[in-house]
Amino acid sequence: METNEYNDLPVEVILKKMEELISNGFDVLIKFKCLNCGSRQTSDVPNKFFTEGYSCEECGKITYPKIFGFAVAKRITIGDKINEEVWEGYN
Ligand SMILES: [Zn+2]
Repeated sequence: METNEYNDLPVEVILKKMEELISNGFDVLIKFKCLNCGSRQTSDVPNKFFTEGYSCEECGKITYPKIFGFAVAKRITIGDKINEEVWEGYN
């Protein structure tokens, strides 16, 4: 049984939330806890859920968590500046 200190959610729930958020114009980054070293990691590929596991930047191992968190960002355009992104909702 994995601990759930970050209020992480099961894959099915995360995928549903991702779909909703992306269709509403948000970008989503998956967050997870490495099962090898226990460090909290954030995927660097927006809007993608990797079923084949996640690589941990801390220990270098591939980890297969069963629960995930996420961060969201909305792309905004100010004048000529595009794709200004603010990631929030980290857990
Ligand atoms: Zn690790």
